[in-house]
Amino acid sequence: MVRPVVFNHIRVYLLYLDESGNESDPADKFFVLGGAAVFERQTFFLSQGLEAVQTKHFPGVPPLEFHASPMRSGKGFWRNVPEAKRIEVLDDIADVIANSNDPGVSLFAAAIEKSSTLYGEDAVLLATEPILSRFDRFLTKRNEIEDPQRGLVVFAEGRFDKRAKVWVRDFRQLGTRWGVLKNLCDIPYFASVKETRLLQIADFVAHSVFMLYERRNPSLVHKFIHRFNQRDGTLHGLRHFRPSTSVGPCDCPACYNWKHPNRFGPWL
Ligand SMILES: [Zn+2]
Repeated sequence: MVRPVVFNHIRVYLLYLDESGNESDPADKFFVLGGAAVFERQTFFLSQGLEAVQTKHFPGVPPLEFHASPMRSGKGFWRNVPEAKRIEVLDDIADVIANSNDPGVSLFAAAIEKSSTLYGEDAVLLATEPILSRFDRFLTKRNEIEDPQRGLVVFAEGRFDKRAKVWVRDFRQLGTRWGVLKNLCDIPYFASVKETRLLQIADFVAHSVFMLYERRNPSLVHKFIHRFNQRDGTLHGLRHFRPSTSVGPCDCPACYNWKHPNRFGPWL
């Protein structure tokens, strides 16, 4: 008897990434790249989650760009919004991320502690490699449970614009070096944070991690720290890179959790 051939439909996870902190300005100690991998069928629901936050707090107002830094510091549109209200909106966005579909939404971030020898483009590349490698491994795991997935990376336009051409030109070479081309279906794409709620989620994740490391302020990240890509209680999706001159153990959530699965340490 001829067995029927079963075709598995390949589906796509989109990894939305944004940056926080400045990779070259010594005023910031950290540079963070972070965001969310979102299963294609979850993109609508995650966007709807942010639309609901807007409708709750600003009904009838044209779509607001949820950009975490000016919301927190009260700049631009947010200057006329009372602080208590801004905190409420930020909390609601953190809830949307925390309560999003699992495994349809999985978070990734890398915090690079800059030094006199590590900054600029090197810091960006150092942050990008582990995120893409982890994303690729996440897709491989999905494939192993016969849920074939491919990945596409979407970066926020902005400072990335300057490197967009370099990125796209060198990506295949970098991807091969990093071993991530197995599951990624194309070169990275660039889109405007203004245009997509999902890049606003990436901005929120990157800014929350930046606040955690740069200011030891866990107020945004604590609600969704458990949503970083993890396995058996170990966070693989959150990484902290220290300069080679660092001494002593680090008790940040990423380093602490590596030794104590399911726990996030004294920073939270
Ligand atoms: Zn650490």
